[in-house]
This record gives sequence, structure tokens and C-alpha cells, in this order.
Amino acid sequence: MQKNKVALVTGGTRGIGRSIVLSLAENLCSHLAFVYNSSDELAETLKQEIEKLNCEAFPIKSDVSNFNSSLDVVDQVVAKFGKLEILVNNAGVTKDNLLLRMTEDDYDKVLNVNLKSVFNYTKAVSRQMMKQRYGKIINITSVVGLIGNAGQSNYAASKAGIIGFTKSTAKEFASRNININAVAPGFIETDMTDALNDEQRKALLSNIPMSKMGKPEDVSNLVKFLAGDESSYITGQVITVDGGMVM
Ligand code: NAP
Repeated sequence: MQKNKVALVTGGTRGIGRSIVLSLAENLCSHLAFVYNSSDELAETLKQEIEKLNCEAFPIKSDVSNFNSSLDVVDQVVAKFGKLEILVNNAGVTKDNLLLRMTEDDYDKVLNVNLKSVFNYTKAVSRQMMKQRYGKIINITSVVGLIGNAGQSNYAASKAGIIGFTKSTAKEFASRNININAVAPGFIETDMTDALNDEQRKALLSNIPMSKMGKPEDVSNLVKFLAGDESSYITGQVITVDGGMVM
């Protein structure tokens, strides 16, 4: 497979995003930009790891929920690398609480980082991808967006929103040779799920037919497939990676 694509991944420095970045750098990309929000140190380490894979790296510190910043990020990537073929909308946060205790801030924060960011970045790349008559957009949603979860109404709303957004934009851009799909992980071992206590973990595993949590690579393997040319007739789909939890 030729490694000649340019990609932009949001939330690249940790967990699933980090695995996606490394997989794309190893298999598909000659140039890769990633967005992060806080740790410059993690970003610098990742940049070095990407470059060891013979791929030019461009870390950008930016809050994905800010619309104008997303336009600026995409402009910088296209100015530096000349094109942009793959966008992975991965950045996400949780602020869990039962609805009775959930604050307006907790709701707004999760919706803005998880869902508005997908609007921001999809809109920001759309002109360039339409001009190229080529693009692959992969949105990371969650099984929680399909089945809901007590204590995560804000998160579930943001992830269900991503699914509706994915299907609508897939219909809008299909004729321009732009594929837009969503990947819905189940429970994957990252910082996000580290917070679970033993009891929550046990309850969770009892609902997973494969009786284990997934690894970031389980998700990045699918993203790599959707970002490559072998998935060219697949668009508007939501594909779960969840050990059989939702079927
Ligand atoms: P994670 O380990 O907490 O990493 C989140 C990443 O997003 C970090 O790189 C973080 O960068 C970045 N990020 C957060 N807020 C940001 C913002 N405002 N602007 C820019 N970047 C921001 O999370 P994860 O578990 O890998 O999850 C990745 C995606 O998969 C999320 O969309 C999540 O909802 C989804 N997902 C995860 C699971 C799971 O079980 N882990 C299951 C289903 C879906 P900084 O560190 O710089 O803030």
C-alpha cells in the first residue's frame, strides 16, 4: 500500500486517538496533523514517534469546540501539506452525572467538545475535500449513542448527535467521492475508562459477550480500513467495535 495521504486527527495525544495517529502514520500517511488541548509534552513525544514511522508530523494545540480555531487549523494543515484527504473526529470528553445532578455547564461542555467539534471540523475540511473530489471522514461515536447509559445523558446525546450528523453529511457529500462513516467503540481501555471502579467494571463486563474490554488498536484497525481506499463503497455507516455488546 502506498503511504501518500495527508490526515488530520483530533484528540491525538492519548488513548484511541493516539492509536489512530500511529496506525495512519505507519500505514497510509506521508503527512499527519493532530490536534490536542493540553499536554505539550505528550504532543512532542507523539510527534517524534510519528516521524520514526517516516511520516511528517504537525501537532496543533487547539480547543476543538471553537469554530474559528477549527477553520484556522484546517487552513494551516492545507497550507503546510498542500492537501487533506483524511479527517478523524476523535476528541471527546465525559462529565458524567445523573440528570438530577447534572449542571448546565456539564451538558454544554460535553456537547461542545464531542458534537459541535464534529460540525466545526467537517465544515472546515469540506471545501478542500470537495475541490479534491476525494475525502474520508471518520467520526468516533460510542455504543452509548446507540443504547444510552444512565449517568451519561449529555455524553449519549452528543454521541447520538454524531450518528445523525454522519448520516446526513454522508448523503450530502457522497456524489463528491467523500465517504463519511462513524465508529462506535464499546468499552476500551484508555484514561477515559480508567475512572471506573471494580464494581462498575464487573457490571460492565457481564454485558460484553467477549467478557473483556477492548484495546485502542481494536478501534484504530477499523479506522485505518475506513480511511483507506479499500472502503470506497462504504458511507453513512455506524460500525461498532464492542466485543458483541450491541447486536
Ligand atoms: P482520552 O483517553 O480521554 O483522550 C481524549 C483525547 O481528546 C485527548 O487526546 C485529549 O487531548 C483530546 N481532547 C479532549 N478535549 C479536547 C478539546 N477540547 N480540544 C482538543 N482535544 C481535546 O479518550 P479516549 O478514551 O481515547 O476517547 C477517544 C474518543 O473515543 C472520544 O470521542 C470518546 O468519546 C470515544 N469513545 C471512547 C470509549 C472508551 O471506552 N474509551 C468508548 C466509546 C467511545 P488533551 O489530553 O490534550 O486534552
